[in-house]
Amino acid sequence: MSARTRRPALDRFRLAAAVMVVCIHTGPLSSVGDGWDFWLTRVLARTAVPFFLMVTGYFLARSGWKNTGRFLKKTALTYLAAVALYLPLNLYGGGYGPLEWGKKLLIDGTLYHLWYFPAVILGVFIAWGLSRLNRSAALSTAALLYLIGLGGDSYYGLVSSLSGPAAFYEAVFTIFEYARNGLFLAPLFLLLGAAGVTLGRAVSLTGTLLSLAVMTGEGFLLRELDWPRHDSMYLTLPVCMLFLFSLLLGRNRGEDRRARRLSLLIYLLHPWSIVLVRGGAKAVKLTEALVDNSLGHFSAVLALTLASALALDVLRPMRPSPTARAWKEIDLDALRHNAEILQSRLAPGCGLMAVVKADGYGHGAPVAARHLQKSGVSAFAVACLTEGIALRRAGVRGLVLILGHTPAEEVPLLRRWRLTQAVVDEQHGAALNDAGRPVRVHLAIDTGMRRLGIPAEDTDALVRLYGMKNLRITGIFSHLCVSDSPKRPDRDYTRTQLTRFYQAADRLRGHGYDPGRIHIQASYGILNLPPQPCDYARAGIALYGVGSSGAADGVEAGLRPVLSLRARVVCVRTLRPGEGAGYGLDFQARRDTRLAVVSIGYADGLPRELAQNGGRVLLHGQSCPMAGRMCMDQLFIDVTDVPQVRPGDIATIIGQDGGLTIRAEEISRRCDTIANELLSRLGGRVGQVVRQESNPCGSIRRARPGNADEPNS
Ligand SMILES: *Cc1c(COP(=O)(O)O)cnc(C)c1O
Repeated sequence: MSARTRRPALDRFRLAAAVMVVCIHTGPLSSVGDGWDFWLTRVLARTAVPFFLMVTGYFLARSGWKNTGRFLKKTALTYLAAVALYLPLNLYGGGYGPLEWGKKLLIDGTLYHLWYFPAVILGVFIAWGLSRLNRSAALSTAALLYLIGLGGDSYYGLVSSLSGPAAFYEAVFTIFEYARNGLFLAPLFLLLGAAGVTLGRAVSLTGTLLSLAVMTGEGFLLRELDWPRHDSMYLTLPVCMLFLFSLLLGRNRGEDRRARRLSLLIYLLHPWSIVLVRGGAKAVKLTEALVDNSLGHFSAVLALTLASALALDVLRPMRPSPTARAWKEIDLDALRHNAEILQSRLAPGCGLMAVVKADGYGHGAPVAARHLQKSGVSAFAVACLTEGIALRRAGVRGLVLILGHTPAEEVPLLRRWRLTQAVVDEQHGAALNDAGRPVRVHLAIDTGMRRLGIPAEDTDALVRLYGMKNLRITGIFSHLCVSDSPKRPDRDYTRTQLTRFYQAADRLRGHGYDPGRIHIQASYGILNLPPQPCDYARAGIALYGVGSSGAADGVEAGLRPVLSLRARVVCVRTLRPGEGAGYGLDFQARRDTRLAVVSIGYADGLPRELAQNGGRVLLHGQSCPMAGRMCMDQLFIDVTDVPQVRPGDIATIIGQDGGLTIRAEEISRRCDTIANELLSRLGGRVGQVVRQESNPCGSIRRARPGNADEPNS
């Protein structure tokens, strides 16, 4: 979209609408004449709030009401902030009783302008519900509600003389302070906005002007008759809004986020400006110019409001776009899918323990763990204390097991964050016990890997550990070291490891000790062994849809890669035959060549040798070879055969583009490593975006209930 065609009419009208609300609360023309002020603030400016409701309905409907939850949350938070902002004024005014606070907060708004927030929240609930009916049924219901509201608003004089309706509205007014609320006013405008009607330009314009004229007549007539109890709603208003919104929609190109933010700030801040202008004017003895003169008052309030809105906008938190340079894309649906597949390979009663060490193998541990938790996973494993704390801070509940060594000095932190610690040998257990406070542990059992653990056959040591009073032993586990190998001797070794493990557990039972939760399989143990009689299986790499060894072993099991890695093309150069490029001029052009420079390098975690070992990336759905030496922050690719490549294009280093895919396993094979290393080394300056289509709720079976490991469950 070129700059010339950008014309964000909707967002700009938000500013106008916010200024209209300021008008309503300051009466700019009242010094000029009552009639003029009435026309401006009680007729024209009555389009402002319906407009805000219509834009809300318009955007929610365009997302298929999918963003409704997020919108409601954001609105509720904004409202709470506004309530806090105006608390001093409430308290200065004497405050409310507890019951009245509740009513104000939930229904009428805690200050005069804040009624909009509870109204839009209730209105969106109703409109969203109605939107599931067919459109005309929804609109007629909302119109009926509006008509009922009219009777309690501008047409109150008409109905209040009749005893039945009068009693009805009395009842309404014990709940709502006004009829312009979330029940009667908001649903109609939200749904009119959702309908997104666009008429021709001439029709919209004529319609807007004519209906405004009629509404002016209606307003003045009702004023003459002295019918209004309040004057937010007119019979003509919905018609007028339909034309006005269509006029704006027809001219709307692009968006202006700044106008959006400023209009909200103007709306929120102007009552404080009114208070400050009044107080300030008194202090400097300018009451006549800044308060009594209505135009002076309005201008001062608007200027102060605008100045503070602009200042707050400049100071707002701003974050760089994660996709500006190089980024990971995390597919949460694939993560959940993999968890379901792995879970389905376990014995009944055996739960998945998600291994999210090394920042979730580079996938972002908090995001991954939170999503798995929503899907029903209730046990997690990390490598060290800081990773465990990070999970708890991210809101992860249930078992969090630290698989690596944690020194006994850290026992207070283990306790504070309710982490379960692996005991890596007897000495470690004794040190933890000597720290003097109870700590929850799983005993690591060495069944042949010889890395961590108490030797499986050393029953005496195990029994001694069970005798240590500060060790709350809630499980034992071991780790298999050749379960990924199909070779006969390796399979025999794995069987020996399993036997040693189960025998150790049995001997403990024989001594009258409960081994607690037992677990031994990791990813390859799940993929290559039959279901085991365990309580957990610890899945790491397979959860991320990747195989450790060169082959993409997970493909057979139906696992899907969770991570993609992408980066931007920053520029494209042309080289003549014989010209070189990059450090050492390692690349030499043999023909007329176009080289694209991509903004990712070895400092982002890519192996430096990849460029010389046949590395490639995907661009415009085609495979392009890397060229020359990889730099710390950039790499070259040869795009001679993909002429449409431009700066800003997205290069895929891992993942899918069009019909082609590059897997992490391919890269690790080229660089003589395993995908675990490649993924876990992806650097911290690489951005991250998360994709999720479906709703994750509780699809994964839990481990057997009554889990002593889960302090929160
Ligand atoms: C890393 C680790 C796992 C997970 O291994 P994967 O092969 O990635 O599934 C399981 N258990 C222990 C003890 C580990 O260190």
